[in-house]
Amino acid sequence: MVDLLDRASGVEERQRELALNRQQSKKEKPLIIDGIRCCLNCGHVIPIERVNAVDAVRCITDQELHEASQKHLRG
Ligand SMILES: [Zn+2]
Repeated sequence: MVDLLDRASGVEERQRELALNRQQSKKEKPLIIDGIRCCLNCGHVIPIERVNAVDAVRCITDQELHEASQKHLRG
């Protein structure tokens, strides 16, 4: 009985996690300051070439950190 309940709550948690991941991967709202797109993490200006190329919302450094942390979360 206890075992069954544990498993059920685990599934619920995973579904919530998946829903969260979906929301995050959908699209992050870019940070715009004075019409210039800035990094969500550090606030540095993102080069326009990067914005045009990959619709970046972070500087290269923070994007790499972000992707690494996402991978880490996924296990
Ligand atoms: Zn940054």
